Amino acid sequence: MKRALLFGILSAVFVFPTIAQTLDPCGTVPHRSEWLANFQKRGIDLSQRSVDFRIAINAHQVGNDQGSLFDYGLILESLAALERDFDSTGIGFVVNLPFDTLRSTQYNSHDDVLEGADMMFENNKPDALNIYYVSNPAGNCGYNLPYAGIAMANQCSGFSQKTIAHEVGHALSLPHPFLGWEGGQTDDGSTPAVYTSPAPRNVTYDYTYFQSTLVRDTLIIDTAIVELVARTNCRDAADGFCDTPADYLATRWTCATNNESGQTQMDPDGQIFRSDGTLIMGYSDDNCQSRFTDEQKVAMEAFAQAERPSWIRTTFDTNLVRGVSDLILDADGFTLTTEELTFTPVENATHYFVEVSERRSFSSLLLETVVTSPVLALPSSIFEENENYYIKIYAFNDHSFLAGRSSIMDFTVLQGVSSTQTASVSKLSISPNPVSAGASVQVPFRKDIERVHWYDSRGAIVAEQAYLNNTSVEVPANFATGVYNLMLLSRDGDRYLARVQVIR
Ligand SMILES: [Zn+2]
Repeated sequence: MKRALLFGILSAVFVFPTIAQTLDPCGTVPHRSEWLANFQKRGIDLSQRSVDFRIAINAHQVGNDQGSLFDYGLILESLAALERDFDSTGIGFVVNLPFDTLRSTQYNSHDDVLEGADMMFENNKPDALNIYYVSNPAGNCGYNLPYAGIAMANQCSGFSQKTIAHEVGHALSLPHPFLGWEGGQTDDGSTPAVYTSPAPRNVTYDYTYFQSTLVRDTLIIDTAIVELVARTNCRDAADGFCDTPADYLATRWTCATNNESGQTQMDPDGQIFRSDGTLIMGYSDDNCQSRFTDEQKVAMEAFAQAERPSWIRTTFDTNLVRGVSDLILDADGFTLTTEELTFTPVENATHYFVEVSERRSFSSLLLETVVTSPVLALPSSIFEENENYYIKIYAFNDHSFLAGRSSIMDFTVLQGVSSTQTASVSKLSISPNPVSAGASVQVPFRKDIERVHWYDSRGAIVAEQAYLNNTSVEVPANFATGVYNLMLLSRDGDRYLARVQVIR
């Protein structure tokens, strides 16, 4: 089988526990752009949804200068979360593979969005939405710079999280539903929000770095009209959408019953209300957020077509990767050579992210790599004979990331077989299985078979027998309960393998 190592072995790697930082939900203060205000002013026609299209993404893995690690799996999970959360919008994504890599301690943990802007200006690829995965994007889970791209915190990029969908929403023109409250009632944060008395009619906010172009030397303050519960001012207030209700909560909050905030607020007319926690563009916690509104969907589509046409792909492959549960290692998961391990291909997958550990917990990784065919090289510099290894495999292509990882499988590099031996390995059908120690298993008759080897679960030979030219092999009576590997060896070096569960 042809072996194609796209990214090569990424080297033997170890996972260090990440120190959880407390990050703000989002650093974006998206002033309602002139484009969006005009679009909303014309009236939003919900029937205007057009054809499905994809947005091109260029993902950047950012690490420290020296010997730092990239968390490839985390980006796959993040892209899967994005695919899931945009499913109802008609907007899909196509990601340039492989991901870009960038080693820079300074950018990996940057203190302010200006540094992030420098990182993006230096490394952006054209004609795509550029997303940078870093350890600390200026103290936030993420932010979007309209003129440059998105920075995502690794710790906010898991499959269960909504930050990536939220930031891509910003990149496609959506403001927060609480636009204007990001600094409390005033742009400098000097007047905190007060929810027990009527809100002011207007709040001011600082969007210096969040315009359509970067202006470094001028403070830019704008005024937002505060949205009324009655929504009589919904086109002019806050985010300008009339299907996102009033919301003044600009710090992370936890959903109470009915997916609403426990915190009540009071609008300028004295109406008391709670915030809707289902909105992805709000600040409720991740497990409460679930949707974009219809007006938001239409706006994102129109914005992309009008303002970001170079990101749009209209012809694309629609094949989805699913069924990763069918993925199994060939030869029952053990291998005879130190050269390679093969597994069943997953339909429509063009790439496999493979993680190998000596521990079932994967608390440390021995190897992670991406391959473009279902073959994993097993260099003897990393894999030792007689050792048992655990493996999980994430199958994907450039637009389909939801298949996720396979179950954890294991394999053993068997004893006494050097990489110079090119013997073929076939899977052996046997019965019964499980089988009692001292009983016999039935095997297909092959007249060229000479010997029988039994391996224990660690790959060591524990019994050798002559093959008696019949159709059964006796399980040694002294075998303890457990899993064994049965191998029949032919004169020509062919090998037939089965995994046998021995019971007492
Ligand atoms: Zn945001």
